[in-house]
Amino acid sequence: MDVEPQHYHKSSTREYPMKSFHEKQRRIKEIDNVAIRDKEHLAYYEIFHRVFGTRPTTTGGTCPGCQYEVREDATFCRTCGACPI
Ligand SMILES: [Zn+2]
Repeated sequence: MDVEPQHYHKSSTREYPMKSFHEKQRRIKEIDNVAIRDKEHLAYYEIFHRVFGTRPTTTGGTCPGCQYEVREDATFCRTCGACPI
């Protein structure tokens, strides 16, 4: 059974139904190579994209979880919190 779009915004737990969450998780992994851990991470990821747009290409080290640039000696990612990297 499909859920009407207006029901997605009634609460934070309904904003990303599981079917939609897994679809978004899969597409983000394919397109951006970013591993979305959970619904909270997806919400922050979508806000990040609205504010900053497409991620620029990096020349230094990158986080294996979010592909964002990190210092070469970093032990954790300040963007997604992946630890250790
Ligand atoms: Zn990261």
